Amino acid sequence: MTRKLYYEDAYLREAKAKVLEVKENALLLDQTVFYPTGGGQPHDKGWINGVEVLDVYKDEEGNIWHVVAEPEKFKPGDEVELKLDWDYRYKLMRIHSAMHLLEHVLNEVLPGEWELYGSGMSVQKGRYDITYPENVNQWKGQIIELFNRLVDEGGEMKIWWEGETRYTQIRDFEVIPCGGTHVRDIKEIGHLKKFKRSSLGKGKQRLEIWLED
Ligand SMILES: [Zn+2]
Repeated sequence: MTRKLYYEDAYLREAKAKVLEVKENALLLDQTVFYPTGGGQPHDKGWINGVEVLDVYKDEEGNIWHVVAEPEKFKPGDEVELKLDWDYRYKLMRIHSAMHLLEHVLNEVLPGEWELYGSGMSVQKGRYDITYPENVNQWKGQIIELFNRLVDEGGEMKIWWEGETRYTQIRDFEVIPCGGTHVRDIKEIGHLKKFKRSSLGKGKQRLEIWLED
């Protein structure tokens, strides 16, 4: 199975690796810094020996495949240099961590139960689709205020494994199973630039957040 360096150190931007297999336009490596699409987090971008990585995915065996622009430049046994588009990945780490913090903030601020039924993230923004009987906009000010206050206070995002499941926890907040990449400290998330609520009908609401740069 591909050694997943992004789990050993989410801040690793470069690494060397060995090509094990080339299948059509995809490379299998012995180890990688490239996070594959999964858990709501988009795959990383970057370069292998200067060749653009177009897609990264995980197969059923847990191997990571790297779709590259010029697969003919690689053959099994090659030693290659991996380089992440760090600006892109770090933004994803921040927005991903922000979504976990937002979950906690919603638990604290919204009276009663809310239910998550969809989510998504990109470098630009994060999205939660929730069901909740009241218009969340009533609590918009409190949500932004608590989110930004927690960011200012900071707190470690702990990561640990229990068998095959990876967990994360901010400070002493909720424990969340998650396989994505996070920042070390929620200070790195930065403040909310914008919080937007829109109705999807019948108590369904879309909450979107944008972060300050
Ligand atoms: Zn996560």
